[in-house]
Parts: sequence; C-alpha cells; structure tokens
Amino acid sequence: MTDIPRGGFVLMPPRPGVCPVCAVKHDPAQPHNRDSLYYQYRFWAEHRRWPTWVDAMSHCDVKTRRLWTDALRERGVPEKLLAEAEGEDGRREVDQRE
Ligand SMILES: [Zn+2]
Repeated sequence: MTDIPRGGFVLMPPRPGVCPVCAVKHDPAQPHNRDSLYYQYRFWAEHRRWPTWVDAMSHCDVKTRRLWTDALRERGVPEKLLAEAEGEDGRREVDQRE
C-alpha cells in the first residue's frame, strides 16, 4: 500500500474499484462527488481551497455539465457558482465556495 503525501497530512489511497479522484464509485464521465471528504482533502492539498461543483464536473462534457447544473440549480446552489460550468469554456475554476 502506498501513502500519498499531501502537504501536512497523508491521504490513504482509495479502495479498489472506486474513482481515484473522489473515492466514490461513479461513471468516469459523471462529476466527482464534491461532498466526498477524500475529494475535498485531495483538492485542498493541490489547490489550497475547497472544491466547488464546477470543479467536480470540470472533466465532464458540455451536455453532462448542463444536466448537472440544472439539477444543482433546482437544489438551490447559487447561480454564480454554476454559470461557468454551463458554457463551452466551463472548465475554468471558481475562486470561492459557498
Ligand atoms: Zn470521482
């Protein structure tokens, strides 16, 4: 087993069969689970900020990002956190998390 050094703490590798980025089992074409603690701490170690849903879906195609932003909007995620995810250039990251 290999430990992954991530700054001031060590993240153990996720169990086999799950997404190596968020440690949750999901279709690779779908967003990572932003609420996964593994994903949050891994992201923090790399970016020194917490991930947003835009970050979690930044690897998805435009159609998938639009489906997810519609669903997240219905659940009350603030518009300013979703706008960047919908466009063709929606791979940018946002600076804040609410
Ligand atoms: Zn994932």
